[in-house]
This record gives sequence, C-alpha cells and structure tokens, in this order.
Amino acid sequence: MNLILLGPPGAGKGTQAKRLEDKFKIVQLSTGDMLRAAVASGSELGKKAKAIMDVGDLVPDDLVVAMISERIEQPDCANGFVLDGFPRTVAQAEALDAMLAHKGLSIEYVIQLAVNEAILLERIRTRIAETPVSERRADDNEETLKNRLEVYHAQTAPILPYYRDKGALKSVDGMASIDEVSAQLGAILSG
Ligand code: ADP
Repeated sequence: MNLILLGPPGAGKGTQAKRLEDKFKIVQLSTGDMLRAAVASGSELGKKAKAIMDVGDLVPDDLVVAMISERIEQPDCANGFVLDGFPRTVAQAEALDAMLAHKGLSIEYVIQLAVNEAILLERIRTRIAETPVSERRADDNEETLKNRLEVYHAQTAPILPYYRDKGALKSVDGMASIDEVSAQLGAILSG
C-alpha cells in the first residue's frame, strides 16, 4: 500500500505517518527527515539544502525527486510507503507519477489532514516555546515558520486540486485528537 499525506507544516503528518508504519507495516518516507539527515552528514546534497531549509524555502524539485526515487527502490519499501512532506509542488507530483509509472508502482491513497491554520500556528508557536533552544530544529523559529506557511500556500496547496481532479483525494479532520485522526485514517485505509 502506497499513500501520500498532505497538509501544512504542523498538521501532524509525521506523527500519523509513524503510526501507519507500525499499523500497516509500511515505511515512512519524510523528505524533511531525509534532508535533515543529509545536512547532518555534510554530504553535497546537505550542503546545498541547508541554507534553503533554514529560511523555509523549498529545496529544488530535481534534488528531492532523485532522493525519493532512489529511496523507493530500497527493499524495505516493497510492502509500501507513506510519503510525508513530498510531493510539495505540482512539478514534484507530476514527477512522482511519472517515476512510479516507470517503476510499475502507483499511489493508492492521497489523504489531506484538514486543519484550522490559526489554531495550528498557535500549536507550532507553543511547540517552539516549549522546546529548549539546543533541541530546536534550525527552521523552528517565528520568521521561518511564517515563510514555511507562505511557501505552503503558494507552492504546495495547488497539489490539492491536482489530486482532487484525478478523484484521488480524501480528507480527515486534522484538528481531532491524534488517536481520532489515526482512527479516521485507519478507516479509509482498511476500507
Ligand atoms: P515541515 O515541518 O514544515 O512540514 P519538513 O520537515 O517536511 O517541514 O521539511 C523541512 C524543510 O525541508 C522544508 O521547509 C524544505 O526546505 C525542505 N523540504 C522538505 N521536503 C521538501 C520537498 N518535497 N521539496 C522541497 N523541499 C523540501
């Protein structure tokens, strides 16, 4: 089973993706986590990505598409994967479709975590305030957060109509409790 979770920063994609890993024995593929690992390792990709991520802009499509394409080939993805943070632009969505078709794979579910952004912003601000500076992500600060949300609206939200037009988009209430969101996801994926 292959699926995509969509939603703005802080919507809970990562939390739910981890739960889906355990429940459905699939692999979470988070481009954010993969890029942070690349930055930490000091690889060429990491060097290119760091400054972009720190201000909350998007890393070039070709880099993340290549990263995901390689990752999907790994044996642990054979039972399926949940994409979290990818695709993030319509160009990435189109590249993903082409890449999967080429590999003889497809996406079965695209699920939006629908959220109230005003409440969400407060949630992230609280998370930032409660996390010691030494443990904070480099992009968890007020200015970068504002930019990440602007980038989401300008570049990522247009993916929703892209999948809606294909009849592939489902939605769950991302403002419900973590357990309730998991239950809603489980109902879609088991049904
Ligand atoms: P968030 O917590 O905002 O959802 P992520 O952890 O998914 O953020 O990603 C952090 C940063 O990594 C993004 O702001 C962006 O710079 C970069 N990034 C992650 N995924 C992608 C992608 N698919 N395309 C381009 N850049 C990405």
